[in-house]
Amino acid sequence: MYDAIVVGARCAGSPTAMLLARKGYNVLLVDKSSFPSDIMSTHYIHPPGVARLERWGLLDSVLETNAPLITKITSFMGEPPVAAPPPPPDAPPMKALCPRRTVLDKVLVDAAVEAGAELREGFSVKELTRDGERVTGIRGGDATEEAKIVIGADGMRSIVAKEVEAPEYNTIPTLSYGYYAYWSNVPLEGAELYMLSGNGILAFPTNDEMSCVAVGGRIDDFHEFRKDIEGNYMKILERAGDLGERVKAGKRETKFVGTADQPNFFRKPYGPGWALVGDAGYHRDFGTGLGITDAFRDLELLVEAIDLAFSGKRPIDEAMADYEAKRNEIAMPLYEFTTSLARMEEMPQPDLFVSFGEALQAMMPEGAGV
Ligand SMILES: Cc1cc2nc3c(=O)[nH]c(=O)nc-3n(C[C@H](O)[C@H](O)[C@H](O)COP(=O)(O)OP(=O)(O)OC[C@H]3O[C@@H](n4cnc5c(N)ncnc54)[C@H](O)[C@@H]3O)c2cc1C
Repeated sequence: MYDAIVVGARCAGSPTAMLLARKGYNVLLVDKSSFPSDIMSTHYIHPPGVARLERWGLLDSVLETNAPLITKITSFMGEPPVAAPPPPPDAPPMKALCPRRTVLDKVLVDAAVEAGAELREGFSVKELTRDGERVTGIRGGDATEEAKIVIGADGMRSIVAKEVEAPEYNTIPTLSYGYYAYWSNVPLEGAELYMLSGNGILAFPTNDEMSCVAVGGRIDDFHEFRKDIEGNYMKILERAGDLGERVKAGKRETKFVGTADQPNFFRKPYGPGWALVGDAGYHRDFGTGLGITDAFRDLELLVEAIDLAFSGKRPIDEAMADYEAKRNEIAMPLYEFTTSLARMEEMPQPDLFVSFGEALQAMMPEGAGV
């Protein structure tokens, strides 16, 4: 019998397992994938996420993968693009990152194992076991494993959430589509973000001196976009100042990857014997690149709640209710910003970026600046 079973070993699951194991809990971490492996996702990590990697002692390992530290992000609006005002000169230096998921997730999994979590790769959870209403474990293949709590860190289509019928709220159906590819020889000035009429662009420097360049558009335009992915991708880039020229002068190193399945929702993240974290518990459009940073923030709250409950300091329902309340309070302004941006109905006003910056600041661990 484990203290905790964590289903899903990427950016939500592995650090959850790591932090619980570091507190002395007996943790099983399972994933149907094995590592290193990729997943459909660009991978910008905002400063509050990088600050958490640093606090967990993992920032150096991520930097050693050759993911460049990003110290500048510029948001451009309109056509021709006009840059949003830069941060005030007395603002603390910015530390963001965009490590490939192949390397980020591997660093996280390894850290969980090093902390003492037992890892089972290639383990696909098919169902949960129960004693009455209470979840008692997982079943997959021939194996059944039991724990005091089963944590679903298994992404937006979470089997844990599905099995426990976790209530969903604040739901907004998919608002946008997104496609990205990796390019060599495309110089970028830190991270570049463009808001055009009906489209958006994210361009990030990543590992191996490559640039990850993503475009997005309104969901209603998806079928038109899909008719010629490369042609339409380039047409959007051409509307972003000289970015189109820079990309054309580079070399595309990967195929285009994309999705039009980006629902927005919160789920109740706990119940008898179970909890949810990461995309399994809260999912938003990818346009603000918040999924990883959100997961890092929320999993710390979850681990704190479980520790308080398991050490007898607080009744579990009270500790978990607090986890949900804190998650929602911090996430809500960012959720509103993200979904309003994803509608791409009107050009955002510069003061919206100020509020976004403030909401990010509220996500920083105590004592750190954005
Ligand atoms: C196109 C796109 C671009 C994005 N860009 C960014 C960005 O720039 N920055 C950012 O922060 N976020 C971005 N995101 C969002 C980000 O990818 C997610 O928020 C993040 O991956 C969530 O992490 P997670 O650990 O919760 O879930 P996931 O990364 O989805 O991991 C879930 C894991 O659970 C495992 N699993 C699922 N079911 C089972 C099962 N039954 N049994 C065992 N294992 C199971 C899966 O194999 C997987 O490894 C983007 C997403 C998309 C789609």
